[in-house]
Amino acid sequence: MRTSDILRAWTRILDGHRPSLSLEITRECPLRCPGCYAYEDQHLGGGKTLRDLNDRKGRDLIHGVLEVADRFRPLHLSLVGGDPLVRYRELEILVPLLLERGIHVQIVTSAFRPLPAAWAALEHLNIVVSIDGLQPEHDLRRKPATYDRILKNIAGQSITVHCTVTGQMMKRPGYLGEFLEFWSPRPEVQKVWFSVFTPQIGDDLPEIPDASERARLIEDLLVLRRRYRKLDMPEPLIRQLSAPPHSPEECIFALTTQSISADLETRITPCQFGGNPDCRSCGCIASMGLAAVGGHKLAGVIPVAALFKASRKIGDWRAGRNRIEDPKPAPVLRVLQ
Ligand code: SF4
Ligand code: SF4
Repeated sequence: MRTSDILRAWTRILDGHRPSLSLEITRECPLRCPGCYAYEDQHLGGGKTLRDLNDRKGRDLIHGVLEVADRFRPLHLSLVGGDPLVRYRELEILVPLLLERGIHVQIVTSAFRPLPAAWAALEHLNIVVSIDGLQPEHDLRRKPATYDRILKNIAGQSITVHCTVTGQMMKRPGYLGEFLEFWSPRPEVQKVWFSVFTPQIGDDLPEIPDASERARLIEDLLVLRRRYRKLDMPEPLIRQLSAPPHSPEECIFALTTQSISADLETRITPCQFGGNPDCRSCGCIASMGLAAVGGHKLAGVIPVAALFKASRKIGDWRAGRNRIEDPKPAPVLRVLQ
């Protein structure tokens, strides 16, 4: 992250907004991945689940997303699901309209269907394809979005590969190197990111790497980033995996990102995982990246983390608490005309 990005985000926080927005644009997904947090009972805090929400389609979805974007005016908007490609027709219209507003757009998908051809030429659009390990493990977990299907569906595109590392993967030495060996040479792949599986408090799952596996993961990534230039994880970010935030209040990502579910109203707290996430075991690349940025000192003096936290309080005060939690809709929606 450049200093200019930090300053833009800081300005947005001081203005009473969060610089980053994450929207679950659909409750639907053709996959049934084990451990998917979006469909957990507690994802939306208990009571309703993602499948219970009234999501939107067609013009209603396009107008709804633009209305939310115009209200929150994020610098960065992540479109997730479900799988957002379920609504690919709407996205083909929406994405250029969001980019026109100066918003960096990220779409997180399993690439179960072809990506629209026009997306290959769009600047400031990042398509993140979730790939859960090497082919045998991935195909088992993510059928029908198998390796073969992904390779066909990303042809001619520019994508970021995102792999969530599990305890099972770390039990096999050299796993991450093999993964990079497969994906890194592909012309469609611009970057590779790794996160670590993030549990909910109290979970006891084989997906959670133990302490020694997590330490080896960090060592492996520090070596691999020098061997594979597409592994887009700076050293401070990788080292941050050994010291995740202790709580959502300590997490710059949670403090600077508003997450909203598929009815475009329900807030997901404290972060995109929802429920009661175990921050001390967090391995989310976005959280680690911002935690690493938080350690930087602006002008060599002020830690970015302290600046963001203090600014959030000032921004809340200036905007009034209600504006942060429930901003008033903008009166004019350009797309509706
Ligand atoms: S593709 Fe994503 S949203 Fe769909 S089940 Fe898998 S993890 Fe969940
Ligand atoms: S992103 Fe990670 S550290 Fe931040 S609130 Fe969520 S679980 Fe906690």
